[in-house]
Amino acid sequence: MDRESLVIPAPAVASVPVAGGGRFPVRRIFCVGRNYAEHAREMGADPDRELPFFFCKPADAVVTGDADMPYPTMTSNLHHEMELVAAIGRGGADIAEADALAHVWGYAAGLDMTRRDLQNQAKKEGKPWDMGKGFDHSAPIGALVPAARVDPMRGRIELRVNGTVRQSSDLAKLIWSVAETVAYLSRLVRLEPGDLIFTGTPEGVAAVVRGDLLEGTVEGVGAVRTRIV
Ligand code: MN
Repeated sequence: MDRESLVIPAPAVASVPVAGGGRFPVRRIFCVGRNYAEHAREMGADPDRELPFFFCKPADAVVTGDADMPYPTMTSNLHHEMELVAAIGRGGADIAEADALAHVWGYAAGLDMTRRDLQNQAKKEGKPWDMGKGFDHSAPIGALVPAARVDPMRGRIELRVNGTVRQSSDLAKLIWSVAETVAYLSRLVRLEPGDLIFTGTPEGVAAVVRGDLLEGTVEGVGAVRTRIV
């Protein structure tokens, strides 16, 4: 692309900090729905009968560096969803499950923030989830750590709101593992370097309000921290 020929300035590239220095550029954000059985049940779904399904957020929805998250417009029911995030470093289509983890550059702790009232209305009407999920500042995320240091098959995943534990589970309870998710998603779209995959949330999702401090951790990965303002 010839930047000189662009009729408006090119948009800034969104990025996520890497633990120890540097930043990881974000291309797309994919999210897996209902990927822990207890969360699927709390949302009124049957966790035993579904293939993984995906929705997206814009790349520039990331909130990094412990920055505040503005309470979004058009909702009165903003929910937290604490998740492990996988960052794709090497692209590919139709990736075999056995090769999938080699495409992951690193992992981070992230929050799939959700306008639950808009999402529920969309579900009821058979409409897209985009405006319930893919709004501005809807993806707070901590620093990425290189994949070699992480075992994405196990480790405590936890979210505290104002110091009180709201979500607590283990990566071992993912219905579709990171490798299975990467392999399956790569059959739907060609994955590219810079793609982030939010891998789903465990049970305990609930509303937050302005002033709440959200602190999430994934054992062996790191933390995500944001205050709702
Ligand atoms: Mn989610």
